[in-house]
Amino acid sequence: MEYLTSNPSETKKIGEKLAKKILHFGKPSKPGQAQYRARRMRDSAFVLGLVGELGGGKTTFLQGFAKGLGIKEKILSPSFVIMKRFDIKHKTPTPFKAFYHIDCYRIEKVKEILNLDFKEIISNPQNIVAIEWADRLWKILPKDTLVLEFEFKNRSKRKVKIRNIPLWISTLDKNS
Ligand code: ADP
Ligand code: MG
Repeated sequence: MEYLTSNPSETKKIGEKLAKKILHFGKPSKPGQAQYRARRMRDSAFVLGLVGELGGGKTTFLQGFAKGLGIKEKILSPSFVIMKRFDIKHKTPTPFKAFYHIDCYRIEKVKEILNLDFKEIISNPQNIVAIEWADRLWKILPKDTLVLEFEFKNRSKRKVKIRNIPLWISTLDKNS
């Protein structure tokens, strides 16, 4: 799935929509629905891997994503902090309790991340984990990581490509 955005708000909007879909994991749904099956099968964190050049819109996207999770705090480029944790307290029922924003831009060795209890964080089904510069950690990411690629088109246009998107997420309309 590919989206072309013309400004930061559109990129945020896609992030917000995706977050809302992911939260719906927690909504009671009838057995037999794809959503129900996906929820039953989940036994680790929901992991998003964001890749693409500097200024591609990864952090901007996550600002919208956090908004969609109901997080009020501001999501910043964590240049000096590798990892930040936010509580998820959403009005709709959701099995997710925490959102982790990880930025691997400054890490040199995978070990630096492992030292931060990374394995525990990604194995907890109550966590949603978004990782900028995820390509630096491919080896240790779960196979079902949702991969988002950000491409710089020009000053105000970006392309966001979502790979291996599960069926239950389907389309994310940036205009509605
Ligand atoms: P990254 O985290 O990938 O390095 P950021 O989200 O921090 O990227 O930066 C993206 C920059 O590009 C921001 O300054 C943002 O305002 C600007 N920008 C311009 N157009 C867009 C767009 N269509 N989508 C996202 N960001 C955009
Ligand atoms: Mg960033």
